[in-house]
Amino acid sequence: MQMTPEAILKEYFGYDRFRAGQAPLVQRILSGGDVLGIMPTGAGKSVCYQVPAMLLTGMTIVISPLISLMEDQVAALREAGIPAACLHSNLDSSAYYRTLDAVRNGEVRLLYAAPERLLTDMFLSLTDTVAIAMVAVDEAHCLSQWGQDFRPSYLQITEFLHLLPRRPVVAAFTATATETVRADIRRLLDLQSPLELVTGFDRANLRWIVERPSNKYRALLEVLKRNRGKSGIVYCISRNQTDKVCEKLRADGYAAGRYHAGMSAEERSANQEAFLHDELQIITATNAFGMGIDKSNVSFVVHYNMPKSMEAYYQEAGRAGRDGSPAECVLLFSAQDISTNMLLIESSAQDNDRLTPQQRGIIRRKDEERLQAMVRYCSLTDCLRHYILRYFGEESPDRCGNCGSCLTDTETVDATVPAQKILSCVYRVRQRGSACGAKMLCDILQGKDTKQLQERGYAQLSTYGLMQDVSRVQLEHMVNILISRGYLVTDTGQYRTLSLGERAIPVLRGQKQVSMSLPLHDLKETRRAQRLAAMPDYELDDALFQKLRKVRERLAAREHMPAYIVFSDATLREMCVKRPSDEEELLAISGVGRHKLEKYGAAFLEALSGGGV
Ligand code: ADP
Ligand code: ZN
Repeated sequence: MQMTPEAILKEYFGYDRFRAGQAPLVQRILSGGDVLGIMPTGAGKSVCYQVPAMLLTGMTIVISPLISLMEDQVAALREAGIPAACLHSNLDSSAYYRTLDAVRNGEVRLLYAAPERLLTDMFLSLTDTVAIAMVAVDEAHCLSQWGQDFRPSYLQITEFLHLLPRRPVVAAFTATATETVRADIRRLLDLQSPLELVTGFDRANLRWIVERPSNKYRALLEVLKRNRGKSGIVYCISRNQTDKVCEKLRADGYAAGRYHAGMSAEERSANQEAFLHDELQIITATNAFGMGIDKSNVSFVVHYNMPKSMEAYYQEAGRAGRDGSPAECVLLFSAQDISTNMLLIESSAQDNDRLTPQQRGIIRRKDEERLQAMVRYCSLTDCLRHYILRYFGEESPDRCGNCGSCLTDTETVDATVPAQKILSCVYRVRQRGSACGAKMLCDILQGKDTKQLQERGYAQLSTYGLMQDVSRVQLEHMVNILISRGYLVTDTGQYRTLSLGERAIPVLRGQKQVSMSLPLHDLKETRRAQRLAAMPDYELDDALFQKLRKVRERLAAREHMPAYIVFSDATLREMCVKRPSDEEELLAISGVGRHKLEKYGAAFLEALSGGGV
């Protein structure tokens, strides 16, 4: 009798139930339909095709962009007792032929392949002898020119699908939700009325925090203090910045390493390995780092600079807490980050000479819109999680209780008068037949003595210097709130100039009140720091946890694999809390499947019963 998907999930992966969204995708695949799963990093995309791959008649081909990612996945599947293999250009020829033989003999359920392999004669001849039940395309946004990482080799998938004797189920997965990218994926993979599902964007264990520190390095040290001894990533915007932060951390005694495209391939992979194996506690990196990093025990991801988009941010920050343990994602914002990103957008538009000027203009506008959404996130006083989820199209409550905003004391105040001042300043500027963006608006209201304001005659406005008594941060917050609620409207031109929205008129006339909840930044800093420091955690017996980690390390070394492939931290934590005393109880722990039980169960049971390591 055939097993159910739930039974496969338990037996091989050790999980009791599917997460929201996984089950419908699995069902659709099993009934022979195509799917497009839009799920963020860590939401559990792989299970969606790995479980059906065990049940379909025929082999599944998984297309994945990075060799390291493939090898990791294949190692993890084999650990779970699932016959998987990969084909890529880094294999020596004997390994390559061995894999081909295994595939021909029907010994492989999941075959991971780099897209460059697909159209080779060798690969195509395979598909004549072996039935292909499904083609799963991981990181499917690589198909789209409009996505973040277009990979021309991905276009070979289209041709490959046409060359197959029978069209298999096609299952595409990506974390990118924009409609343009989705449309490209549907078209290029020729998806047949796919089940399209946006799911799993909420990562309840991640705590979202935005800081606007006067000294970023000091703010970083605060995060490290809260996370003593735990693994983390620090993303920087440039190679230079990456090097500098890494050096400082080392000088301060941290086991930090760096990773960026300006280093030799050897140094990069050595540092990556050291980080994966917990020899380096911290890795400072540009966004070149991370694709293909499955390390599940990353406890914090700090962005030293604001990234270029919410998509990029969510993907990078999402590398924290993949095993479900509490983790934090901290963004250290400064206004400088906006101009740096604008420069990057400009230079990348110029670099791209495959495109017509018109296409370049479109891309540039989209980039600027994405940046704008990112900037809004950085100046939010409302719930950060709610903003993120709304951005990706998922419903959620207004307040989450586990983000920097929800944990900050705010006070709801009647802000009618400051709102009137801000709105009438925009009105005055417009009245002069002129226009300004949010930054200049704040400059005017604060009475800044700049050449630009003088030249434009703004220093003569009746609203010039009208809000000198308000802190810049508070003023920017208020402007942002007015924009987000439609009192002010930004145009889409280069300077994002402001004009009055319809809702502004009754406020200016004194017919409507405006209330805002503003952070009590200055007063309550210490209390906020204390709250942020208190992470929710299991009541953990730390000595036992460390002991289990040692067992895991020993087993991983024996198998030549990173520790988290044996068991995740979350699994070890649950063992510490539930203290299973026999095989059956151990099997009930999330993450313990039958195969791993047989391979590793005895060692862990012995440690749990008080035995030596
Ligand atoms: P991604 O979407 O980034 O590919 P993965 O497939 O690597 O994410 O899954 C992230 C983590 O969540 C992995 O450790 C995986 O084993 C775990 N996971 C996936 N599905 C479930 C589930 N139903 N129950 C518990 N853990 C799960
Ligand atoms: Zn919140």
